[in-house]
Amino acid sequence: MYPFVTHTWNAIKGICFHDCPYCYMKKFDGLLPIRFDPKELEVNLGNGNFIFVGSGTDAWAFDIPSDWITRFLDYCNLFNNNYLFQSKDPSRFLEFMGHPVIQKSVFCTTIETNIFYPGIVMNAPGTRERAQAMQELASLE
Ligand code: SF4
Repeated sequence: MYPFVTHTWNAIKGICFHDCPYCYMKKFDGLLPIRFDPKELEVNLGNGNFIFVGSGTDAWAFDIPSDWITRFLDYCNLFNNNYLFQSKDPSRFLEFMGHPVIQKSVFCTTIETNIFYPGIVMNAPGTRERAQAMQELASLE
């Protein structure tokens, strides 16, 4: 999806709150409830990498406690890498803009459509809200 990404890393694992109908993770059986995996804090993230953090579940979703996010941001900041953070609830990025790892990171969201489909059920904020949050984020730079 992102040719510049060299690695993925997931400290938060499990069933994503957003429950998008097209989620590729749904093809895997046996997904567990959402959790922070402390073993991931033993992984050497190396240096000079561009790491997609949270590729397996949305690590910024409504049900992710802020201290879990702080834990993985702190760990990322120990390494000399660049990071990509992506969420369908980008308003949560705003809370962490003072974290030092932000200086070496990019933030993304997904805007699937500008059309409202009443039959599609998912728990993520609407695309308009996502766009507004990204606009707010950009205005901070
Ligand atoms: S936000 Fe991403 S990980 Fe979560 S359900 Fe949707 S596609 Fe899957």
